[in-house]
Amino acid sequence: MTLRLTTELLTLHTTHPFIIARGGHSEFRTVMVKVTDGDGVEGWGEAAATAFYGETLATVQAALATYGPLLGDDPFALDAIERRLETTLAGNAAARVAISAALHDLVGKRLGIPLWRYWGLEAAKAPRSTFTIGIDTPEMIRRKVAEAAGYPVLKVKLGTPNDLEILTTIREATDREIRVDANCGWTADHAVAMLPVLAEFGVTVLEQPVTPTDIAGLAHIRRQSKIPIIADESCVTSAHIPALVGAVDGINIKLAKCGSLREALRMIAIARAHGMMVMVGCMIESSLGITAAAHFTPLVDIVDLDGAALLRDDPFAGATIPGGQVTLPDAPGLGVTRR
Ligand code: MG
Repeated sequence: MTLRLTTELLTLHTTHPFIIARGGHSEFRTVMVKVTDGDGVEGWGEAAATAFYGETLATVQAALATYGPLLGDDPFALDAIERRLETTLAGNAAARVAISAALHDLVGKRLGIPLWRYWGLEAAKAPRSTFTIGIDTPEMIRRKVAEAAGYPVLKVKLGTPNDLEILTTIREATDREIRVDANCGWTADHAVAMLPVLAEFGVTVLEQPVTPTDIAGLAHIRRQSKIPIIADESCVTSAHIPALVGAVDGINIKLAKCGSLREALRMIAIARAHGMMVMVGCMIESSLGITAAAHFTPLVDIVDLDGAALLRDDPFAGATIPGGQVTLPDAPGLGVTRR
């Protein structure tokens, strides 16, 4: 029996407006994808479109309508299905990864084992997740830092005219570890000028200081930096890794960028072959999307999977990160349930 694809629109709200260097919102819409096999077993995935990567709710829905009839009848044919989707309609990574996650969920459910067991991973091996403090006023930043009291590592969004004020506010509020994500908001020269400032505030990691195509800028910053430089927007799929070798210390993998759970595994293997660090990150998405990403945590150095923890109305229960501690579900497949 042919695998059947159905979708459901999800509307999610963050506890506070989530703002980064490119702007922000408090309402986020994602698409839940269900793939049902001939026995009525369902696999679930989530598409979190990001305009920065050329996707919107409308493009996700159009892409899913194209992909739906291409699934065939064998959910175990993961490689063939994923290749068929990509060769028929490239790009549309958030839409494709929702199907990829749903197929992996379905495979785990058919086998009766969690996906991390299928991959032979140790669920307890995950590094702690950071919790993100978005761009905000000093009063709100103090409140957010207090609310994130259980998280030992904070990720701070910079790339604004008020970066120094933000760092000062956070450092006055806490002595916890701080990592910085500038989300392409700096020039290479400004980033180099910021390095001693980051050192003064005890920042331990710098993510994507410059615009995605400025690989020479990343390399220039890295030569001056004592802390690891991680490429996020500069590294979308495995094809971007070779150009980043030597220019950065590591890459940030996000499922909504790379379009496939199998591609995420390839990215980890390629980065490791080059001695690079690996981080797994996320968009603002529910526990459905976060749980798929959380399955990579035993394989990475840095975890930033707070997308669902920032929500006030998460419709799903799955992997959790209280206090940064990543816990993967024990149920078959992704192990995600409706709340
Ligand atoms: Mg980032």
